[in-house]
Amino acid sequence: MRINKIKGTIDFFGYEVEKYRYIEKVCVDIAKKFGYSEVITPIFEATDVFVRSVGESSDIVNKEMYTFTDRGNRSLTLRPEGTAPMMRMFVENKLYVNPGLAKYYYFGPIFRYERPQKGRYHQFTQFGVETYGLENPLLDADVINLACKIMNALGIENVKVCLNTLGSKEARNAYVPALKEYFAPHLEEMCADCKVRFEKNPLRMLDCKADANTEIMNNVPKISDYLTEEDKAYFEELKNALDILGIKYEVSDKLVRGLDYYSNDVFELIYDNPDSAINGLTLCAGGRYNDMGRDFDGPDVKAVGFAFGVERMMMALDELGIKVPDSSKDKVTVITLGKPVKKVGLKLVDYLRSNGIPAEIDYQSDNLKPQFKLAERIKARYIIIIGEDEVASNMMTIKDTWKQVEVKIKVNELNEYFEIEGANKYAY
Ligand code: ATP
Ligand code: MG
Repeated sequence: MRINKIKGTIDFFGYEVEKYRYIEKVCVDIAKKFGYSEVITPIFEATDVFVRSVGESSDIVNKEMYTFTDRGNRSLTLRPEGTAPMMRMFVENKLYVNPGLAKYYYFGPIFRYERPQKGRYHQFTQFGVETYGLENPLLDADVINLACKIMNALGIENVKVCLNTLGSKEARNAYVPALKEYFAPHLEEMCADCKVRFEKNPLRMLDCKADANTEIMNNVPKISDYLTEEDKAYFEELKNALDILGIKYEVSDKLVRGLDYYSNDVFELIYDNPDSAINGLTLCAGGRYNDMGRDFDGPDVKAVGFAFGVERMMMALDELGIKVPDSSKDKVTVITLGKPVKKVGLKLVDYLRSNGIPAEIDYQSDNLKPQFKLAERIKARYIIIIGEDEVASNMMTIKDTWKQVEVKIKVNELNEYFEIEGANKYAY
């Protein structure tokens, strides 16, 4: 029987890879401009990394982790999110002793066991940022700004920024009992997951996809009525900073996010176009969390960050008909006439590549047709043609297929033609 890829995973090839790497490049370039530096953590971690921080009442820990026991009888988990490993890394390496705000980004695969569907996979990719060491609404606004700048740079403009605050612990300690009191008489009418959440983490009932838009959900008490004066001031400052940065947002009091670790502001960037098949798809999600350092026996680390789903951004680009630029430099194909010249051609492509120019040759054919086919297939801009006559007279013919011009040059003029720097001249 044929072996196929696991459902919910993706093979990327051809243009899909161009798109994937282009998104990575845009994310990284912008993050670097904002002063973030890259961190690469392992793809698997001790299971406890996620259990302690993401929390047992979250969908991730509850039912979405790829957990296995290794040969040393340790429980390991393929990372189902990036925030907990980053905090583990930060605390373990005692990076908190460095002064100032730490700003990191990561890009890599994430694994979740959930029902595969459009925009939901078993293995997907997140680009995320985390900042450690400061609780300030201006920072939170600038983190949201970074996410928006990435969207803008990619040309994804149909995006809505949804914002909420979960307030401080104090506010949530007052709000959660009110929420429980409200939901208790309605529990029978709610989904099975909500019954569990009611016991473990009632806040997450607001995030329920099954019970969304029901009468019960529409009349639920609002966190905004339970915020402390300080919480309110923080949220106002954040909104004000977003206004100054020219970022439009919607405050949504049902936005709580699926993870246990958030406090204060949470946000999502949602694809917003009612005519589109992906309307309402969350492309990016994040917020502030201040207690996670302690989950790793570290200090209290003030933190804010977000994660983008890269495959979902690819979907958004497709939806908008945005084509990413071809990452490759102008390519060259060398076409040879006559068997003895093939090796000369091989030496020529080697010279071009050594000087940073992508070049290919058809190793096999002496006929013109298959050689031109190769040029077409790899979308070569330049076609260099050499035959025995050219070699004998130290000449070559170069066709620029974009400009539609053909020139005959001396071999020692090759450097000038391709703007190759250096004193070495090419010779047959
Ligand atoms: P949802 O409520 O849609 O399940 P989530 O709260 O689980 O989302 P996060 O954990 O915040 O999502 O992940 C951040 C981003 O990663 C999401 O906004 C989304 O773009 C992407 N993402 C999450 N789960 C998947 C998945 N299974 N497949 C593809 N992308 C995903
Ligand atoms: Mg999820």
